[in-house]
Amino acid sequence: PPARANAPRLRPDDVFIAVKTTRKNHGPRLGLLLRTWISRAPRQTFIFTDGDDPDLQLQGAGSHVINTNCSAVHTRQALCCKMSVEYDKFIESGRKWFCHVDDDNYVNPRSLLQLLSTFSPSQDIYLGRPSLDHPIEATERVQGGGTVTTVKFWFATGGAGFCLSRGLALKMSPWASLGSFMSTAERVRLPDDCTVGYIVEGLLGARLRHSSLFHSHLENLQRLPAATVLQQVTLSYGGPENPRNVVNVAGGFSLQQDPTRFKSVHCLLYPDTDWCPVQKQG
Ligand code: UDP
Ligand code: MN
Repeated sequence: PPARANAPRLRPDDVFIAVKTTRKNHGPRLGLLLRTWISRAPRQTFIFTDGDDPDLQLQGAGSHVINTNCSAVHTRQALCCKMSVEYDKFIESGRKWFCHVDDDNYVNPRSLLQLLSTFSPSQDIYLGRPSLDHPIEATERVQGGGTVTTVKFWFATGGAGFCLSRGLALKMSPWASLGSFMSTAERVRLPDDCTVGYIVEGLLGARLRHSSLFHSHLENLQRLPAATVLQQVTLSYGGPENPRNVVNVAGGFSLQQDPTRFKSVHCLLYPDTDWCPVQKQG
């Protein structure tokens, strides 16, 4: 639904963008994000990591780097620990929208703002791309007894990024705040992004709004029409295991110079960036 005519216009600082990363990705992944999209959204972006790094401070990320003290392993517990800190910091921030992305996502802050401004943050809004074409079915262990029930719900894939309105995030608090996110995840034994879907759809009865503007490397990114790449809210790339799974974008950088295509995208969106190739006149 369109935003109410008298609703205040959404400002960039109304949005809280959480980037999930890990110490060993600071060099290989986060540096690129800091030089590209984060440089255009520094006050909106918060980096959630698991180790101190003086180099990150030097790159200007400063006070927006949060060391979660979660363990630096790829387990459900460690990833849910980070999501739980992201959630708590968002609530504390007082901002209107929470968006989560991975450190292999490019965010177009203008597209994001445009998308979010079509909703009211006091509505129950959960926006993202489902990773499956059907709802997931999980077994739910209720504390105390040995009762096991099944729940079916949609969830937005974390690797494509997703957003929650403040109104909905506040309703999630009994199952998400101050570490309870971890026990909720244990109840269904699912990863962090699935657990968000479980809380929103399974426990609160709200719904995921499927959006095709969010992208992860689980998709074939080459199939995204070149003419639409700059309008997307998030992009991603396949990485070393799948180096050809990148968006199709022309520009001043070869695949060797810009294997993720994020520099090329960034220079098309922000050609005045000092390291971008000089534009042809006329
Ligand atoms: N990640 C993390 N801790 C780890 C491994 C990964 O926080 O021990 C983060 C990583 O920085 C990224 C996300 O989890 O933001 C997904 O990791 P990755 O892209 O490597 O794997 P995928 O699940 O996409 O295959
Ligand atoms: Mn990834």
